[in-house]
Amino acid sequence: MQLVCLDLEGVLIPEIWIEFSQRTGIPELARTTRDEPDYDKLMKFRLNLLTQHKLGLPDIQQVIASMAPLPGAAEFVDWLRPRFQVIILSDTYYEFAMPLMAQLGFPALFCHKLEADANGMLVNYHLRMPNQKKESVKRFKELNFKVIAAGDSYNDTAMLAEAHAGILFHAPANVIREFPQFKVTDTYDELKTAILDASASI
Ligand SMILES: [Mg+2]
Repeated sequence: MQLVCLDLEGVLIPEIWIEFSQRTGIPELARTTRDEPDYDKLMKFRLNLLTQHKLGLPDIQQVIASMAPLPGAAEFVDWLRPRFQVIILSDTYYEFAMPLMAQLGFPALFCHKLEADANGMLVNYHLRMPNQKKESVKRFKELNFKVIAAGDSYNDTAMLAEAHAGILFHAPANVIREFPQFKVTDTYDELKTAILDASASI
């Protein structure tokens, strides 16, 4: 039994915070872990900004619903799902991702949760567990699945290393340089071929 684990942002959909920052015209929301390495600080900063701009969860979801998956992503997922069990392992939040998952036919998604108050204002975030991408792959292996994983960034490399086969998709040059052990792909056609090759060899 083979399972394909995919990262979400940068692989199937745009980076949500960056796109959201452009759509709402709030440039500070494009701040990433590269600008603020303390994730807790960064998330509190983002949630405060949303409250300051009086953006509650329904407003946010409306903006996100107007976004689209990356070109070709939905077709890629449609190609993949009859061939493999597919699980999306993402560090995003269900409340943000669901409007976009609807456009991908709702594949299984493991991610984190946001907490809203009675007025829909976001007051906190809850990570389901630390390192959930890697931990999930570890558990799938314990369930006797062979795992192929694909992702685009630093937060995917532990998952890629834990999997039987790890593939980089659309990764920046520094990630490719630092992790030469992973197959590099740039288009969905290349990713399809890499997945089929991995499937035949694991
Ligand atoms: Mg990503």
